Amino acid sequence: MKQHFVSHLEAAIDGSRLENDRLRSLHKSRPIWVRYDIEAIGHLTKRLDLLGRKNDMWRYRELMPVSSEDNIVSLGEGMTPLLKVDRLASHFGLKNVYVKDEAQLPTASFKSRGMSAAISMAKEYNVKKVAVPSAGNAASACAAYAARAGMEAYVFMPQDTSASNIKEAALYGAKVYLVDGLITDCGKIVKDGLEKKQWHDLSTLKEPYRIEGKKTMGLELAEQLNWVLPDVIVYPTGGGTGLIGMWKAFHELKELGWLNESKMPRMVSVQSKGCCPIVTAFVKGKRFAEIHKNAATIASGLRVPSAIGDFMILDALNESDGCAVAVEEADIVNWMSLTSSSEGISMGPESACCIGAVEKLTRDSWIKPDEKVVIFNCGSALKYPHIIDVDAPVLHPNDIDWAQIH
Ligand SMILES: *Cc1c(COP(=O)(O)O)cnc(C)c1O
Repeated sequence: MKQHFVSHLEAAIDGSRLENDRLRSLHKSRPIWVRYDIEAIGHLTKRLDLLGRKNDMWRYRELMPVSSEDNIVSLGEGMTPLLKVDRLASHFGLKNVYVKDEAQLPTASFKSRGMSAAISMAKEYNVKKVAVPSAGNAASACAAYAARAGMEAYVFMPQDTSASNIKEAALYGAKVYLVDGLITDCGKIVKDGLEKKQWHDLSTLKEPYRIEGKKTMGLELAEQLNWVLPDVIVYPTGGGTGLIGMWKAFHELKELGWLNESKMPRMVSVQSKGCCPIVTAFVKGKRFAEIHKNAATIASGLRVPSAIGDFMILDALNESDGCAVAVEEADIVNWMSLTSSSEGISMGPESACCIGAVEKLTRDSWIKPDEKVVIFNCGSALKYPHIIDVDAPVLHPNDIDWAQIH
């Protein structure tokens, strides 16, 4: 019996309707949307039904593609706290700022949402072996969820990826390979291995289901804010899956009639000036981004010189009256410590870029003092020990120099 509400798949580039009959990859080298029979969901499910459900992202199962609950591969991901951050808000001169703390998810980043969905669907189609190119966090999450599913995982990361991710992925039993190049080079290896190694490619947006996992950020946010969406959502953008996913989620909720107000948030993509293809395209009014040459940023999740979902990101920014902001690479660590030390939130360099963006957008009056702003903290600072310099004095217990302690 069919237990999901997927009506069909749809090519994002030209809207062609595709049957939901197999594990698909790209269509015309571009991503595929999962579409649902929203009317049927609306008849069978009400917002109140959520109340009795588990507090994880699978509580929205009608809006998820898995047909058998037995195939759900879960580590309890989802329902991350939405933290009001008043000290940070006053730093910006704002009143209503929230951080959605995705660093508290399994493997300490929101990659777990996408991987939980993608690996569940892989399980549904009997996949035994998965592969992913990664800037770090996707590898960790892929490795963890593959372990949870009993699948083999092959992960490919740039050689200079944080040791935390490399060791984490290895610990979860993945086969870990370091590539003398960028994530795009890793992606090519995964693609070239499709035939030779018979693995399933879990690259960002190259299968339709990581978006579905990440869209649950938007579903949760709506539920946590009592079905009234915020004014502005600030999102550190690499491949863009989360931003695209949330924008999709808001439309599904609107169509379901679950939103108390029809107002949509303005979506903001944030990148570092060290790698900002989406910002460049947005500023030029283009729908497709050019490759960012010599991409270099300590925010490894944002070091994506070209994204196959570029037009999906740019469409969401434009449709939402949003914008795209590139921030100074040199300030990233300061923004990390500002957030961590003022709010106790472990914020990695990617989301730290959002702090710089909110500073700028507030200064420019693009964000008004009373507006409700949600910043996504997509990954923990603990993944990046190499970028945090600490000058901690060493004390000798038998001969304490009290002048050192001040
Ligand atoms: C992957 C990643 C990003 C970028 O996410 P996309 O949805 O691919 O744009 C941002 N921050 C962190 C910590 C990440 O791991």
